[in-house]
Amino acid sequence: MTSNNYFDLIVVGGGVLGTFHALHALSKGLKVALFEKNRFPVDATVRNFGQIVPSGMNLKWQAYGRKSLEIYQSIQAKADIGIRQNGSIYLASNDDELQLIAELHHINRQNNYPSQLLSTAQCVKKYPSLNTAYCKGGLFFEQELSANPRVMIVKLQQYLAQNNRFYHFPGTLITTAEASGTQCVVRSSQGNTWFAGKVLICSGSDFKTLFPQLFMQSDLQVVKLQMLRLLPQRHTHLPGNILTGLSIRRYESFSECPSYTSIKEKENSDTFWKKWGIHILFKQEEDGSVILGDSHEYADAADADTLGFDLRTDVNQYFIEEGKKIFHLEHWNIDTQWAGFYSQCKQHDLHLQTPDTNLHIITGIGGKGMTASAGFAFENIHNLFGA
Ligand SMILES: Cc1cc2nc3c(=O)[nH]c(=O)nc-3n(C[C@H](O)[C@H](O)[C@H](O)COP(=O)(O)OP(=O)(O)OC[C@H]3O[C@@H](n4cnc5c(N)ncnc54)[C@H](O)[C@@H]3O)c2cc1C
Repeated sequence: MTSNNYFDLIVVGGGVLGTFHALHALSKGLKVALFEKNRFPVDATVRNFGQIVPSGMNLKWQAYGRKSLEIYQSIQAKADIGIRQNGSIYLASNDDELQLIAELHHINRQNNYPSQLLSTAQCVKKYPSLNTAYCKGGLFFEQELSANPRVMIVKLQQYLAQNNRFYHFPGTLITTAEASGTQCVVRSSQGNTWFAGKVLICSGSDFKTLFPQLFMQSDLQVVKLQMLRLLPQRHTHLPGNILTGLSIRRYESFSECPSYTSIKEKENSDTFWKKWGIHILFKQEEDGSVILGDSHEYADAADADTLGFDLRTDVNQYFIEEGKKIFHLEHWNIDTQWAGFYSQCKQHDLHLQTPDTNLHIITGIGGKGMTASAGFAFENIHNLFGA
């Protein structure tokens, strides 16, 4: 061991959860190494919508999300990591969904998180291409942010690289991690060795490389989501994060509304959207392209391979048919389509495990990673390293 291969903290996994742990450890003055098996992250962190939406989380995770808003804004003030503040809107399509957004507005008023109930006319003023037959009203959260997921993490890691205590090892697969005396040691597939006071494993949905036996026995599952991108709209502007009626019926924050259970009980369980776990979200990038999705399929960690790699045409068609009911876009021409995968727990809101002294696994953040990782990692680094 030399000073060249010894760190205060090693983070395995260069997705959003690992990268924000590295950022907060650097802020504490620590010497940090970040290992990523791919040349740049290609998993959930770049395959998502880039919606930073604390409004969609339960109150515990909303707090982490609101802390994330501060963190993203403070980084964006120093370096352009592609964060834009255009807010989030939930569009209600019927009386039940109107009831839920009114209740969520009330909860957030009590929780001191600003939101605004909008009439159909106010929604149309904001989004002139909105179909008035669909929209019965909206709930707008002005503080919320959007990221371009394909570039944000790369720019964030470039920002970290300005710090001379940050050591970045892209294209390096870590194959073992263990405690060795009072220190930890990690080894790569190329046979290189590094040491650290602590190791954090933020390996997303890779359950096969490090500690596979622990993951196979856990309550972790993998979720497969289908997404598509429409070619740029030249004259149609859809700023911010757009969530619609099915999202109101799906997102955790609404489950805290008094009417939620009775409204869910009325739903027909035999529908296409229920079968494929679909809700409809829009997110326009700066080039005018629109990300549209998504669907959800689930498998236990041990059976993750069964999710396969197929993209279903009927699911894409459903996104577009439902999308047409919500907005009048210039066209609905698909540019690209993909599947994304994230890990989540069945019973818990995060998988935290300490398999060896000073060696911690942190994964299973589910569908809330772009929103909550920055804030959660801030608290976790504080807990691990002290004030
Ligand atoms: C389609 C889709 C849409 C989503 N939309 C949103 C959204 O709008 N808003 C939101 O808040 N969240 C969203 N999410 C969820 C969010 O993307 C995830 O919660 C988040 O990206 C998880 O980050 P992570 O760092 O835990 O995992 P990952 O992004 O999977 O990163 C883990 C990294 O670890 C690396 N790795 C694994 N094992 C090793 C090893 N042994 N050695 C070296 N490197 C290793 C992998 O290569 C990978 O880059 C969405 C997710 C998907 C899939």
